Amino acid sequence: MNQITPQPGIMDIALYEGGASHVAGKSNVLKLSSNENPLGPSDAAREAFSRAVHDLHRYPSTDHGALRAAIGAVWKLNPEQIICGVGSDEIIHFLCQAYAGPRDEVIHTEHGFAMYRISALAAGATPVEVPERERVTDVDAILEACSGRTRLVFLANPNNPTGTMIGAGELRRLAEGLPRKAILVLDGAYAEYVEGYDAGAALIAERDNVVMTRTFSKIYGLGGLRVGWGHGPKAIIDVLNRVRGPFNLSSAALAAAQAAVQDTAYMAKCRDENARQREWLAGALAEMGVPSDHSTANFILARFADAAEAEACDAHLRNEGILVRRVAGYNLPNCLRITVGDESACRRVAHAVGQFK
Ligand code: PMP
Repeated sequence: MNQITPQPGIMDIALYEGGASHVAGKSNVLKLSSNENPLGPSDAAREAFSRAVHDLHRYPSTDHGALRAAIGAVWKLNPEQIICGVGSDEIIHFLCQAYAGPRDEVIHTEHGFAMYRISALAAGATPVEVPERERVTDVDAILEACSGRTRLVFLANPNNPTGTMIGAGELRRLAEGLPRKAILVLDGAYAEYVEGYDAGAALIAERDNVVMTRTFSKIYGLGGLRVGWGHGPKAIIDVLNRVRGPFNLSSAALAAAQAAVQDTAYMAKCRDENARQREWLAGALAEMGVPSDHSTANFILARFADAAEAEACDAHLRNEGILVRRVAGYNLPNCLRITVGDESACRRVAHAVGQFK
């Protein structure tokens, strides 16, 4: 019988999102640990979800045609080049399953999102960690780390947990410099927070080695429903569809996601409100001696004097009922990642950090 050996990275999952179990049954807990949208989903998405409940005995669509058409219309992409998955986690997983095997290497950046490593290990491939420069993606370091075995290069832009991002010129230089068999995966989980950012769509239109992943878990406020999508050259999307199960997304999740992406006014409102609160929070913490890099996403990476101070502040916040993310596992022991909440949440977290300081 085959022995299934747990891979080291998979053990990190419990730490990776500080999920619902941390808040179950407790009152007045402020969860700022998972980069969720404090405003929740749009009313249109909630209503679509409720309507879908009438048809729960029906299997969902297998090709996600309506959702892909809606995404394509909003983002001006060809629906034939879109694939939908159970969160963007599943798209990351499909990429590793389809393109990375035991002799292959998968590159991710030093502080990059944990799923890249976990999915690479699950596919039997070797994750290769590349240093960043002052918490910003270093394209030269990635290119230097590439070898004939590199199959995938994962890069979140904006990056989680740093919140920093690199520009279109750097992305192009990276895509152009990769070895022949390598695919650049631009993870756009936070792309919608950056007004006017195309998440790599123009690059994908020109090249055959670039893919983007996107999610409904962040700005669209649908993390609980687990919907994400990918866009890339048709040849790659076709391969990913071969490792996708036919009914990977539920009908209610599909309906809510479709309504959410169509509600572009609500998305813009969430983006603008996030930017306002983020600048306020970053400014308030900086005045208390807790700096952060300029964030382009819906969280800030607050830097403390050292690991002990970060840990002590985390403990104080927990005591006050505020959950933020320790990022020691991301090699950032002196930092705490704090999701940008609504106005009262930002005031509450700033007040608690002020008490600590
Ligand atoms: N990529 C990045 C950079 C993320 O931060 C996250 C969620 N924390 C994901 C992907 C996965 O999101 P989901 O599976 O909910 O779409």
